[in-house]
Amino acid sequence: MAYDPKSLDPASFIDHDEAMASMAHARANATETRTIRAILDKARDAKGLQHREAALLLACADPEIRGEIRQLAAEIKLRFYGRRIVLFAPLYLSNYCINGCIYCPYHSTNKHIARKKLTQAEIEAETIALQDMGHKRLAIEAGEDPKNNPLEYILESIATIYGVHHANGAIRRVNVNIAATTVEDYRRLRDAGIGTYILFQETYNRKSYERQHPRGPKHDYDWHTGAMDRAMRGGIDDVGLGALFGLEDPLYELTAMLMHAEHLEAVFGVGPHTISVPRIKPADGIDPASFPHAVDDETFAHLCACIRLAVPYTGMIISTRESRQVRANVLECGISQISGASRTSVGGYVEREKENTSQFEVSDQRSLDEVVDWLIGLGHIPSFCTACYREGRTGDRFMSLCKSGQIQNCCQPNALLTLKEYLEDYAAPDTRRNGSALIEAELGRVPSEHVREIAKKRLAEIGAGKRDFRF
Ligand code: SAM
Repeated sequence: MAYDPKSLDPASFIDHDEAMASMAHARANATETRTIRAILDKARDAKGLQHREAALLLACADPEIRGEIRQLAAEIKLRFYGRRIVLFAPLYLSNYCINGCIYCPYHSTNKHIARKKLTQAEIEAETIALQDMGHKRLAIEAGEDPKNNPLEYILESIATIYGVHHANGAIRRVNVNIAATTVEDYRRLRDAGIGTYILFQETYNRKSYERQHPRGPKHDYDWHTGAMDRAMRGGIDDVGLGALFGLEDPLYELTAMLMHAEHLEAVFGVGPHTISVPRIKPADGIDPASFPHAVDDETFAHLCACIRLAVPYTGMIISTRESRQVRANVLECGISQISGASRTSVGGYVEREKENTSQFEVSDQRSLDEVVDWLIGLGHIPSFCTACYREGRTGDRFMSLCKSGQIQNCCQPNALLTLKEYLEDYAAPDTRRNGSALIEAELGRVPSEHVREIAKKRLAEIGAGKRDFRF
């Protein structure tokens, strides 16, 4: 089958032969410095890169050129996203699962882990615990189990989360990471007010995918790969892609993931809102060393930089699967969102690891306040902003905001306003002092004087107790 980004057939928009040919081309030309530098020149205009071009960048091993790629990724991130880093936390609702994913301890034949599904009262308690840290944005996670975790349960849980307001707390955006489903179900998720629908492809290589998912509904590659099309047809504008790095050759995953992005752009006029780059972590019965395609830290950072150049307007997410050091490194390669203080066990925010229900080991174990202060120290602006989605700036409307350059008059003040809320309500004294100095300095970088003046006024109002302003 020939590669056709407009096709609705996964075998054609993730065409295996095209992915293999792109990899062969990349490996054959990996030392062609002139060709690679020409691709970098194209990337400098932030028009994005085609999957073959990005594959060639990833295959390049020359340390000097890799350095240039990272430098450019950092510049592009700065140009479009500024120094803002959006913070979120995952909330695990249930680890019941009928699938057989061999990298995940939730697989149905694992009898070692306790199975748990939160009640609505428990979800309320978890939400309060997350609000009390300062979180405003969650990603809910659940295994696939139509009996234990039907869509009605997910919808009820979303309503519960949005309904909790503890002290000045509020969860203003719930992103959803649940198994592939029908257009009708996606419509219901859209109507429930979700932010991004996130679904990791795990691996784009069909044969490998079928091996890694030996049973359950997730075994069906076409159903899983077509999920984002159905989500978009169900009216969800913002979808988040990802591959679980370690399952397959990273060059295959990058190439195919960009083909997926090209497909979404070709069919729906808008690419992925985010891309996640999880790597396999140790978990009950899961040893990352037994997966043959482990991605080392250096390649991982290079991979992040290549994605940033290929899709300059797409948000990039890094989770607490990664250590503080790795996170610091990739923050310089174009990452725009990170999780903080995550628990990957069901009920883990209230009862810290009482039962062994966690999905994988978390490497970065710091509190949210430590992460916020660390980001400030590194020169980033921690942001709890959820404004775009609440103002209807989703899908192509968000992309036009990015492309227009107006993001600095919109996202920059919003980041500062939400940081100010965090400092007032949740920060330790040192964080508050450092954050206040940052706000003062960063206000000057809002280009429009008019917007700057309004932001100043609102910051003062937040200091006086008002909340939830947005541009
Ligand atoms: N159940 C949903 C599905 O089928 O897509 C997704 C929710 S799952 C809780 C979220 C993601 O965690 C999976 O898509 C997978 O990529 C990742 N994951 C599973 N096991 C992992 C491991 N051992 N290390 C790192 N990430 C893992």
